[in-house]
Amino acid sequence: MELGLKGKVAIVAAASKGLGRACAEEFAREGAEVAICARSAANLAKAADSIRKATGREVFAQELDVTRHEAVRDFVAAVEKRFGRVDICVTNAGGPPSKKFVDISIDEWRAAVDLTLMSAVYFAREVLPRMKKNRWGRLLAITSVSVKQPIDNLVLSNSIRAGVTGLMRTLANEFGGDGITVNCICPGYTLTERLDELVGLQAKNAGVEREKILERLSAQVPAGRVGRPEEFAALVTFLASERASYINGCSIPVDGGWTKSLL
Ligand code: NAD
Repeated sequence: MELGLKGKVAIVAAASKGLGRACAEEFAREGAEVAICARSAANLAKAADSIRKATGREVFAQELDVTRHEAVRDFVAAVEKRFGRVDICVTNAGGPPSKKFVDISIDEWRAAVDLTLMSAVYFAREVLPRMKKNRWGRLLAITSVSVKQPIDNLVLSNSIRAGVTGLMRTLANEFGGDGITVNCICPGYTLTERLDELVGLQAKNAGVEREKILERLSAQVPAGRVGRPEEFAALVTFLASERASYINGCSIPVDGGWTKSLL
């Protein structure tokens, strides 16, 4: 299927590793101009290099913290300067810590809101006016299956990602008439460093090997296994494409069937 992504300019936030990195690589494979950011310059350079090698495409990379509004503003402006436009933006950030409600301080709540919700607000504020000017755009937020079904010990994710979903659903209404679609993609268990960290924590708490925890997670999934980042990236690139022009305001899981709800 021709996705029509050749020459489109795609920003992927928090893309030095994991899901973001996989999305950036998939966009580059489809011939898009790709811009990535993350906090660690070294990891970012490594990711940009390996995407260049794998796809032969140039990758614009800038070190930044997505919780800093000015940094996001300057990054989006730099991408526009470099490529002439911004067509696609995938919002993303590291996951908030996994803790029980009573163990979370007020400062940790504030930090999680900055990381998960405000970072998406910052990107949306910068990219939507540019997309509106061009009468074409795709805003995509990486959320979690926790918006469909809360996950134990992830109260920060369960709560704040619902806010991101509300934000994106509202933007889908506001910008739907401007040739822009806004959707959320909800990863289920997918083998990245984030999952590895959560598995390690659960293994420590339960006093068992990591493999045991991975087996338990896999047993919760009808597909019988956790996902691969490129399986997630396949949906993201499709939703960003011309072919997905009538899909707007959705939250779509990529979870091997883990979510138990009907819709
Ligand atoms: P990951 O930890 O493997 O990668 C996170 C990326 O975000 C890294 O590149 C990191 O450098 C970057 N990052 C973190 N904080 C940042 C900041 N403040 N500013 C800029 N960059 C920052 O995580 P992942 O598995 O790719 O997950 C991506 C998102 O999806 C996370 O929010 C995670 O909670 C969520 N999620 C993941 C899974 C899963 O199974 N992998 C499941 C559900 C939800």
